[in-house]
Amino acid sequence: MKRILALPLVVLVALAAALQVVTGFGAAIAAPPAAGPLAAAAAMPAAGAKPFKVTWLGHAAFEIVSPGGTHLLIDPFLKPNGKTPPEFKDLSRYKPNAILVTHSHFDHTADAVEIAKASGAPVISAYEWVDGLDIPAAQKLGGNVGGTFTVGDVAVHLVPASHSSAPSGRPMGFVLTFADGRSLYHTGDTWIFGDMALIQELYHPEVILLNVGGGYYGSDPKTAALAIKKYFTPRAIVPMHFATFPALATEADVTAAFKGDARLVMMTPGQTREF
Ligand SMILES: [Zn+2]
Repeated sequence: MKRILALPLVVLVALAAALQVVTGFGAAIAAPPAAGPLAAAAAMPAAGAKPFKVTWLGHAAFEIVSPGGTHLLIDPFLKPNGKTPPEFKDLSRYKPNAILVTHSHFDHTADAVEIAKASGAPVISAYEWVDGLDIPAAQKLGGNVGGTFTVGDVAVHLVPASHSSAPSGRPMGFVLTFADGRSLYHTGDTWIFGDMALIQELYHPEVILLNVGGGYYGSDPKTAALAIKKYFTPRAIVPMHFATFPALATEADVTAAFKGDARLVMMTPGQTREF
């Protein structure tokens, strides 16, 4: 019982410490982040708006640079990832303002702790997993579905995903809302689920980094395409989590499933696109 009563205080202390760390990354702050869903819903890129940059590192790993210069590293599976170009396996190149991990499977977490230790960046993921990491307490930004962290000029919203997570935590996706109100949705590993309608209603993601890998592990490309058709109105769809392992969908499977959709942006690992 004592443990149960003590937990909320531990969580609060950890969060308070963590928020100090995040706000300490002040150099990149351009403006306060769009506070909430309504701001995102109204968002259209203003004429002359600064773009945000998306670099695909292979599988579900991405580097995002906000219009204000905030660097976010998502699902850093790099050194053991056969699709990550050699120059992106040198972990010393990463100096993110935060590391975001959708769930605790190895193909999403592999290099998170090493990069966190070397860079001092906090790790944002499910509370139960982050709490057990071998990193300083101030770098542990554990959260849960519905939570929001502010990193530089980016609001990081934690949203559900229909998958599993081992050794701990739970699967999630991330919606990043930028200061100009635009947003990007990294789905994490997920199958299609009805609450995607709420993610659309709340955040209107303009760019979606979409799990299409299928095989044993999640939405196949056709089901992922159906999720877009039913629930979302993005300007760009970037497929991910395919062709890394033999069990996953191939590039040909992906392009066939989205045939005729001009919003499809097929990236190659190591490539950077601006949106
Ligand atoms: Zn995965």
